[in-house]
Amino acid sequence: TAKSEGRARYVMYDADRNARQAARYALAADMPDALDRAEFSVVYQPLVSLADERLRGVEALVRWRHPVLGELSPDVFIPLAEETGMIVALGRHVLRTACAQAAEWARRFPGTPVFVSVNVTVAQAREPAFPAEVAKILADTGLDPRLLVLELTESAIMDTDGAPPAALDGLAGSGIRIAIDDFGTGYSNLAYLRRLPVHILKLAGPFVDGLRSADASVDEQIVETIVRMAHALGISVTAEAVETRPQADRLRDLGCDTGQGYLFARPLPPAAMLPLLHDADPVGAGGAR
Ligand code: C2E
Ligand code: MG
Ligand code: MG
Ligand code: MG
Repeated sequence: TAKSEGRARYVMYDADRNARQAARYALAADMPDALDRAEFSVVYQPLVSLADERLRGVEALVRWRHPVLGELSPDVFIPLAEETGMIVALGRHVLRTACAQAAEWARRFPGTPVFVSVNVTVAQAREPAFPAEVAKILADTGLDPRLLVLELTESAIMDTDGAPPAALDGLAGSGIRIAIDDFGTGYSNLAYLRRLPVHILKLAGPFVDGLRSADASVDEQIVETIVRMAHALGISVTAEAVETRPQADRLRDLGCDTGQGYLFARPLPPAAMLPLLHDADPVGAGGAR
């Protein structure tokens, strides 16, 4: 009967959900050991100035090479780490790794200092110890605070009570820059940008993607408006997920300052960054050819 079929479907769905939940718990339980066993690594995706397409910075992106499951996407394990609180230790590890790497590059290629942009979740940013930890990591690694960008998502900044993490002002005061990640996917409440020490807007993939469609004019107008508003506030704009030449050209013409995406480069392990850093640095160690 329809009723028993309905129940069977429900039971199946439920079993499915339980299995999925069990897999999530297992993965979450693996994380602390995985951190000790150095299964987490950081890759770096180039950020280029759209005017000349030269390397200006990198975004640090975490990877988990799971001994059984292979390489896992951060879209899978970051939300889990947030649920368990593991994000605080994992985030600290990524921040330290990325700052140490950027400091090493800055010493080796002094002609063109490349900044590093690190993703930070709201739980991390709200930890009372966060600003002190950032300061300690900068001191330990010797990274110039002006070469560090912290990326927070709109929802992280505008959560339920609407109060941004109190640490932001102090961090920005030390020369660190703040970026709003995935701008345009959340509240897109422009008012808060005036109240916050925001330096960079990262325009979300869907806007960039829209530029390739036949009817791109609405997306173009949105991008143009966001860029104009950002620039009026002294904020620079980075386009995410730039995949094609026409997109890059259009984004540059619409006033976007910086681009990131497969057109320019995939996220790369540190060794694969070296040729790019050499090319970007005509006067430093990289120029000695
Ligand atoms: P995100 O911060 O917006 O990072 C950009 C994502 O877009 C990266 O995915 C990157 O590999 C991908 N991407 C880059 N260029 C292109 C392109 O041309 N086309 C397309 N379709 N995608 C492109 P990834 O590395 O899988 O990271 C996914 C998300 O996981 C990140 O989104 C970020 O929210 C989060 N995440 C990654 N690493 C960390 C971390 O260390 N800490 C925290 N809290 N979150 C992280
Ligand atoms: Mg990001
Ligand atoms: Mg993003
Ligand atoms: Mg994202």
